[in-house]
Amino acid sequence: MMIQAYQTIGIIGGGQLGQMLTIAAKSMGFYVIILDPTPNCCASQVADGHIVAAYADEEALGRLAQQSDVITYEFENIPAQAIEQLSKQAYLPQGAKPLALTQHRLQEKQALQTLGIPVAPFIGVQTQEQLLEAVAQLGYPAILKTCRGGYDGKGQVVLRSEADIVEAAKLLPNDCVLEAFVYFDYEASIIVTRSVHGEMTTFPIAQNIHRNQTLACSIVPSQCSKEVEQTIQAFAQTFMQTHNLVGTMAIECFVSGENVYVNELAPRPHNSGHYTIEGCCVSQFEQHIRAICGWPLAATTLRQPTVMLNLYGEDIGRVHQLIPTLPNNAYVHCYQKGEAKQGRKMGHITFIETTQMNAQKSAEIVYNKLGYSDSSIGGNEK
Ligand code: AMP
Repeated sequence: MMIQAYQTIGIIGGGQLGQMLTIAAKSMGFYVIILDPTPNCCASQVADGHIVAAYADEEALGRLAQQSDVITYEFENIPAQAIEQLSKQAYLPQGAKPLALTQHRLQEKQALQTLGIPVAPFIGVQTQEQLLEAVAQLGYPAILKTCRGGYDGKGQVVLRSEADIVEAAKLLPNDCVLEAFVYFDYEASIIVTRSVHGEMTTFPIAQNIHRNQTLACSIVPSQCSKEVEQTIQAFAQTFMQTHNLVGTMAIECFVSGENVYVNELAPRPHNSGHYTIEGCCVSQFEQHIRAICGWPLAATTLRQPTVMLNLYGEDIGRVHQLIPTLPNNAYVHCYQKGEAKQGRKMGHITFIETTQMNAQKSAEIVYNKLGYSDSSIGGNEK
């Protein structure tokens, strides 16, 4: 099936990813309707319609189905069952499978392992007794993560010694997974897109720098060797192909020498792929729309070396003051979110340059002006 311009795309979820998907879809000539519980959410400000309702509200999903020619989603914590149900009455080419594979950390790791894709050693944990046994097996340091709902370091406790057990045990009795700590050289991610026709592309790998377990910055090209690049691409393609997935998947990895461990999957466009808007011949958002609408996928070639800097609640006020001083290779994105809370992703800036070094330098100058004077953004803190 091919969805044409002037037909309607329904998007479940109206955050910044929904907003950027909508902007891409609108520029291709589609109408867009958002379903999101928050009135005036980011995506509703650029979409043609907004159904204000909970993600699992059956009646509201039914209305979205009636008004849409194709439906997609922009985040992973929608009840998979609601999507399963919806796909019986609407055209939802991704189906619920990408959600089912990624909503539960333990099951996600098992799915990766089954395909021979390496992950950090892990043990499923539900009780304090199991936690102590798992720590005895994996040793310190280790990280306890909730299986459901955690993101950006939320729902996670790093265990460096026995003293951290009490804090970690607070995450129980939710389903959790204890992971061995990986001493990686750097973190990297890839965005893979597979269309309804089985056509597949990967974007250039981004090297990601996290601060406080949240993404601070992505640098492209990454420092991956050819071998590491091919390994990550092969993981992405194998996962999509084997599960016959449609849409976009982001795969976050730890790289240590030539070894790659997959950390996490996201069944949607991803923060580390925002650089593609200015950096590549097609953005991750347009590519996703192409994939679900049955259009040919576009070339993902990197136009120029690119650095993407995230802007959080604490940065955004200063960014507005900095705008007159920004270099002419800096592209500011603001998501029109309400309150600029500490730690809330409010926007990003992309720097493109003739060399990666120069893009990094431009980003570093702005980063320092924002008040971050620690290490250079080229070096990973962890
Ligand atoms: P996550 O929410 O799983 O993506 O974790 C957030 C960040 O915490 C990652 O991007 C890493 O910087 C760090 N982290 C998570 N798991 C591990 C691990 N097993 N070893 C080392 N660092 C980790």
